[in-house]
Amino acid sequence: MPKIVIVEKEKCNPEGCGGFLCTRVSPSNRAGKEAFYKDEDGKVGVNEELVSDIDRIAVNKCPFQALKLINLPSELTEAPIHRYGKNGFALYRLPVPIMGKVVGLLGRNGIGKSTAVKILAGILQPNLGRERNGEENKAPYDELIERFKGSEAQGYFEKLRDGKIVLSYKPQQVEHIPKAFKGSVRELLGKANEKGDAEFKRVTEVLQLANILERDIGVISGGELQRVAIAATVLKKANVYFFDEPTSYLDIKQRISVAHFLRSLADEHTAVMVIDHDLIILDYMTELIHIMYGQEGGYGIVSQPKSTKAGINVYLEGYLREENVRFRDQKVQFSVHAHDARPSDEQLVTWPAIEKQLGNFTLTASEGRIDKHDVIGVLGENGIGKTSFVKTLARIEAETKAGALKVSYKPQYLEEADCFSAEKTVGEVLQHALAYEHQLIAPLALQPLFEKTLGQLSGGELQRVIIAAKLAEEADLYLLDEPSAYLDVEQRLLMSKITREMMAAKGKACLVVDHDILFIDYLSEKLIVFEGEPGKRGVARGPFSMSEGMNRFLKGLNITFRRDEESHRPRVNKEGSVKDREQKASGKLYYAS
Ligand code: ADP
Ligand code: ADP
Ligand code: MG
Repeated sequence: MPKIVIVEKEKCNPEGCGGFLCTRVSPSNRAGKEAFYKDEDGKVGVNEELVSDIDRIAVNKCPFQALKLINLPSELTEAPIHRYGKNGFALYRLPVPIMGKVVGLLGRNGIGKSTAVKILAGILQPNLGRERNGEENKAPYDELIERFKGSEAQGYFEKLRDGKIVLSYKPQQVEHIPKAFKGSVRELLGKANEKGDAEFKRVTEVLQLANILERDIGVISGGELQRVAIAATVLKKANVYFFDEPTSYLDIKQRISVAHFLRSLADEHTAVMVIDHDLIILDYMTELIHIMYGQEGGYGIVSQPKSTKAGINVYLEGYLREENVRFRDQKVQFSVHAHDARPSDEQLVTWPAIEKQLGNFTLTASEGRIDKHDVIGVLGENGIGKTSFVKTLARIEAETKAGALKVSYKPQYLEEADCFSAEKTVGEVLQHALAYEHQLIAPLALQPLFEKTLGQLSGGELQRVIIAAKLAEEADLYLLDEPSAYLDVEQRLLMSKITREMMAAKGKACLVVDHDILFIDYLSEKLIVFEGEPGKRGVARGPFSMSEGMNRFLKGLNITFRRDEESHRPRVNKEGSVKDREQKASGKLYYAS
């Protein structure tokens, strides 16, 4: 069976294990082979071809979990497209952009999606898994072309080699833009623009940037930065556009309008490729998708392209038929009918009608109540007062029933969490969560992070840690503000399950503010819906039953949803389609099946 060994060099600590423990306990090494060896960088190196299954003992004995021995699927006989160094992550196969189409890429965090896109976008030169030095460190396109003979990719790399296609790429981490560019939005976009003034005006209007053109890049919000990055990418004259996670930080209205916009880019001479974790948007935006599977941080394989509808269902199913690979034990199933509210439980919180002035912003809410066991989704645009509402509830309760009702709050920006400190270790922050080994620590795979400090974590890791810390706190009401940010589809679904089970077990209630409708649909039993005008006034209504809440919310967006026949997941109807018109006429915007 083909195998690879991954070394996480930053975890390898030869002094800490008494000096290359793996080299001393590896049966292959003891038999005289140099399977594990001291590398030039002072850390361990591995000659994979000398490693056999019995060496798993050496891998398991590493006290720092710096080694992974991975058996690859047996049909994977080819060399990788790219490998980050001799014992780094390996990418197998590639997706292919297709003129006139939007192609999606779907898979867990750390499975190689960004790597694949960087290779296609000409940003990363693939090394075909061979170690190369200096000048030779580049796989000439000819070699890739040879490798992909007879497939779509051959044509793609030929055109790339011959300078016949021009590429434009939006990176995943828009947070890095202000570090690289100083100046106003107008200056940044002006520099990027190759399409003339009229197009500049059109693009900035479609992406709702017209009002912030004079602002400094350093002060705009995450959602604004995302739209600036998308505009800059689109304003470049190119034939292939790549967007790595374009919906992060955007609210639903913005997600839908970006999806529309990116779809409109694809034509006879233009291809679009997108990575995203919002399944409803990915479904709406793409015609084809490639699924990526493998092992996070170890290796990733790109599947054959599938129609988006079939591909997402396969993904939820957890089993790739053609490839004969199961990548999840259970399939994800949505219920046809919304989990409509159970018969009213014991009451947990009530609030009076609220009217609150916050600077220029007015927040109003009709009176409402939350029952024990409630898991309530909260929907609304950016800047409409969701966070302020949640904070106000917490404050009202603190004032009126001092000590009687405790609120545990996970803020949208994780650094603002009261338990956050960049220097503290995960182990310290999760001390009180150890009692929830089976509910939180194990399912969220938090144990391997315990030695790290919060400042060292990736976005997705920090999100998981802070959510666990907050759900483990003793409280009556839990408030999670945008928990899906930085999480992949698997983690979002898992987080839904965990939250519901925790509330059921504890007999408490939870409010979840989020922009991923599939996540909200999967998670919640009731909805609070915000209406109003972002930045000026927001009105909170509800809690409603799911169907009533969704109907209200979708009315404001002018879209309708149907249920997929197979997985029962929600899908956006094409505007003006028979279903769309029927549902609008009957007022059932969400749950008609
Ligand atoms: P995804 O976009 O699916 O989250 P990436 O393509 O960013 O995944 O990364 C896949 C894996 O490759 C990561 O788990 C990481 O370990 C590794 N990796 C990414 N970039 C580098 C790099 N510059 N050097 C070494 N390893 C890297
Ligand atoms: P959301 O969570 O829906 O994105 P927020 O509740 O964060 O919205 O903000 C709603 C509006 O209220 C924003 O325009 C914000 O700038 C404004 N706002 C919130 N708190 C204050 C405050 N203390 N002073 C002035 N304006 C505020
Ligand atoms: Mg990525």
